[in-house]
Amino acid sequence: HAVYGMGRWGRDLLSVLPNGDIALSNPLMPDAPKVSLPEIVHDLEQRGIHAPILLRVSSFLENEIAHINNSMTDAINRVGYRGKYRGVFPIKVNQQAQVVDRIVEFGRPYSYGLEAGSKPELVIALAHRLPKDALIVCNGVKDEEFIRLAILSRKLGFNTMIVLESPKELETVIGVVEELGEEPLLGVRVKLTNQIGGKWEESSGDRSTFGMNTDQLVSVIDKLRDAKLLHCLKLQHSHLGSQVPDVNDVRRAVGEACRYFVELTREGAELTHLDLGGGLGIDYTGEKKAIENSTNYSVEEYCSNVVETVAYAMDEAQLTHPTLITESGRAVVATSSMLIFNVLEATLYDAPTAPHPQTDDHHLVSDLAAVKGYLNSERLQECLNDANFYRNELRALFRRGYIDLRQMARAERIYLHLMSKIKELAPPTGSAPEIDEQLEKVADIYHCNFSLFQSLPDVWAIDQLHPIVPLQRLNEAPDRRAVLSDITCDSDGKVDEFILADGISPSLPVHTLEDDKPYYLGVFFVGAYQETLGDLHNLFGDTNVATIDLRADGGFDLLQEVEGDTISQVLSYVEYDPRDCVDAFRKFIDEAVSAGTLKNADRRTLMAAYRDSINGYTYYE
Ligand code: PLP
Repeated sequence: HAVYGMGRWGRDLLSVLPNGDIALSNPLMPDAPKVSLPEIVHDLEQRGIHAPILLRVSSFLENEIAHINNSMTDAINRVGYRGKYRGVFPIKVNQQAQVVDRIVEFGRPYSYGLEAGSKPELVIALAHRLPKDALIVCNGVKDEEFIRLAILSRKLGFNTMIVLESPKELETVIGVVEELGEEPLLGVRVKLTNQIGGKWEESSGDRSTFGMNTDQLVSVIDKLRDAKLLHCLKLQHSHLGSQVPDVNDVRRAVGEACRYFVELTREGAELTHLDLGGGLGIDYTGEKKAIENSTNYSVEEYCSNVVETVAYAMDEAQLTHPTLITESGRAVVATSSMLIFNVLEATLYDAPTAPHPQTDDHHLVSDLAAVKGYLNSERLQECLNDANFYRNELRALFRRGYIDLRQMARAERIYLHLMSKIKELAPPTGSAPEIDEQLEKVADIYHCNFSLFQSLPDVWAIDQLHPIVPLQRLNEAPDRRAVLSDITCDSDGKVDEFILADGISPSLPVHTLEDDKPYYLGVFFVGAYQETLGDLHNLFGDTNVATIDLRADGGFDLLQEVEGDTISQVLSYVEYDPRDCVDAFRKFIDEAVSAGTLKNADRRTLMAAYRDSINGYTYYE
């Protein structure tokens, strides 16, 4: 199982049991026995929760919240920082009620708050009983209604901060303040000029679409002073973009944010809170590098950098240390969910035997078959070249009608047989890139029970990498390599980039499927962004969801299950009334019976088939 590199990216959460099962560990109870993930899946299946399943592990979420809050407090104590940390969870990263409710509960000891980037998210935040000194930070574009609700919520004891995104937004705020006669808690979002690396580099720098430049900030300060509201400006906000790969980008950006903080204070703002946004990354590949899908730092290092940089800048400017806020989303929720699905069937690019020569074989078929005679480990590349050449020539002949379907089928089988022999002789992956590249073209296709567009949208849209591993048989050497295809009818619905111990590979090592035994794959660290960004391509809906907690005795508790969408539900999302569909189908049956093309006795079977489908799961059952 070392091939999957789990030792690098699996942290203290995932490991392999001697029986080859993947195991989950509760990092908050290091001495508790590990729990077999295939056994959890088996148990869920027995309860009727079938794959594909999104499995949320509550213990992982609790652990991440403790991790980031404790790391900040440790850094504050170590550096001698004289302010507090008051983190907020950005609801946009996972808005599901089950998740946000738990985040609020697990965050309670740390006075952990919420960030709302829209009106609906503010409505969610205000439905939670937060600790007295926790914050609600409102970002994003705000209309009067949004601002009115934010200001009025303070009467209930919520510490709701309105972060101004533009000078125009301030005018709306001033209007609502005059209407209500209530003072707001305000923030300003500054646009940092430092550009970060990684996939989200456009979220930072001059061309980022949010936040104000220096000229706009000055105008906001002047307007606030004129409106006698400058004393309400308490917070400065900036956001670097998500998944920052390089900790030095964090340090530079925090340094720049501090310069703004110092200057705004000199301008008369009584700032007390410095909000540094999100960006704390996850090392999906475990490479510890400043590259996409990885990070060159740990949570502890991130926290130390933030606290040290702010302490230094504030001491230099002789300012009071502000309350520090970060809006880490990905780092809090990504690890806590995994997508589990079964492999439905395999298209093997393989033929254990080659057909015997026939007298009427075209000479190119004989040439192709002859390659096996000189195949050895020294001549692999030459044999690959020859086999590809003969097969392509034969395909051209087939297209022009010179050879028939049976002859072509024999040629394809000989070719695949040669490929399986070449795979056996090939050196380890990575040692001969040209051969690797050619063999990837003959990797198997494992057809899997999930929708990439619904469950892993970032894999489709922005080449996000997640660790993907078989859940079982990890004590057996994987004997095949495959790309994964989903069950949408879209050729984009495939995964062909995998995190392995020796780097990123276009195919995944897998095992030969066994008859009648399910083969499950797990996609890990999918808790951030994937659930709400997913879409209904081909009308595959939400998967079944199960939330579990890992117990001290090595068992698990099923905390909550949510059934995935039924076909009837997804039909209503696209504005069909399922009852109208049933009525229409019944009418067709009546017409067919009247016309004598359907026997009356078959009426029930047809209707039952339609009803079973419309009430069932959208995935393969
Ligand atoms: N805060 C703001 C304003 C954001 O736009 C985002 C998302 O990009 C976040 C926080 C969360 O970022 P991350 O998930 O990288 O921590």
